[in-house]
Parts: sequence; C-alpha cells; structure tokens
Amino acid sequence: MRIRKLSAGDIIEAGCTRCKSTLNHTIVAMVGERVVKVECNTCHGVHNYRGPVEKKEKTISQAAPKKPSVPRQAKKDPGLAAIEEWEALKLALNADQAIPYDMTRKFRANDLIHHASFGLGVVKSIIPPNKMEVLFQSGIKLLRCQ
Ligand SMILES: [Zn+2]
Repeated sequence: MRIRKLSAGDIIEAGCTRCKSTLNHTIVAMVGERVVKVECNTCHGVHNYRGPVEKKEKTISQAAPKKPSVPRQAKKDPGLAAIEEWEALKLALNADQAIPYDMTRKFRANDLIHHASFGLGVVKSIIPPNKMEVLFQSGIKLLRCQ
C-alpha cells in the first residue's frame, strides 16, 4: 500500500528516538513527496523522519544457529529401550520353547533361549563368526555361539 500524498502539517506514524516507539508525528518539512522532518506529537522533539519502527520478524534462516542435532531417540537410554523391548517381547514368548543356552550350539535370530544366569532371552542377531546379541530382561548381552 502506498502512503497517500502527504504534506507538511499532516500526521504520520514515525519512529521517535526519544520516545523509543512508533508514534504520531506532524510533518514539519518535506522534499518533494518525501517526508524529511517531523515533530513528535508526544515529546514535541523535531527530528528527521525515519518511518515507523519496524518490528523485524525473524525469518527462519535467521533463527537460532543450527546445532548439530542429535536425534532424540539416540539420547534414549539404550538399557531402558532394551527393557521396553523386552517387556513387549515377553508377552509373545513361550518359555517352554526356550532352547537352553549352550555356547557350542548354533542359534538363529529370533530364537528363544534360556540362559543359566540371564534367564530367558531372544536372539537379536548373529554376529559372525561366533557371537550373537541376545535381549534379556536385563538388557542386551553378547554371547558366544557356533
Ligand atoms: Zn517523541
């Protein structure tokens, strides 16, 4: 929107340095169609016209500098995550089908095993040549297998 034609004596909004806000000012002097001097209607100070004080909206690019963002999930306590997973898993487990853990035995992912000290566990993954990750109630353990 263009400002309507102004002339000395008109009242316009301008930023006043003394009042530190955008207030009504009376135009004191103009050069052509440009307002050059105004008188603040509040403090009656005469100063160069500045135009209304712009409240600068911060654009997204000016927003806080991006910190290297760590995915929230990565901060989750891995132990806690394992316990939650275990809680969800154990509902589907059938302890009767658990294979007694034996390091000389072959296991596959998702096998249900029973370990003498850790109790029931589910094989998460096989890590060649001879290890496997097993989720127990107490968390994930690395066990030997064939
Ligand atoms: Zn003022």
